[in-house]
Amino acid sequence: MIAAASFRQCARPVSVGYRAHMPTPVDSRANLHTAACYGQPLGVRCRSCERRALVPPDVIGAKSGDMRELETLPLKCSGCGGRDVELWLFVKRGEANYWAGDP
Ligand SMILES: [Zn+2]
Repeated sequence: MIAAASFRQCARPVSVGYRAHMPTPVDSRANLHTAACYGQPLGVRCRSCERRALVPPDVIGAKSGDMRELETLPLKCSGCGGRDVELWLFVKRGEANYWAGDP
């Protein structure tokens, strides 16, 4: 008998169907492990000034098995200094760039 369940399942979604280009809003369950699984920059949107930015996973310290919640990251808007930010996860780099407004 093999105990394969001891490995943590990676939550990276499969890019199929209509959800392929749907950015995923971060909820309270998402953590650095989740971000590492996605392997794409984290989208950060300031609720005060609407500024959007992409933060590479290594900058926020995302790594497999790190269960710190993304909502606890000390992120601050570089535009207005606000800390009330909304976070997004992306499956593809193109999706992240589109979200951020880059062509
Ligand atoms: Zn701002």
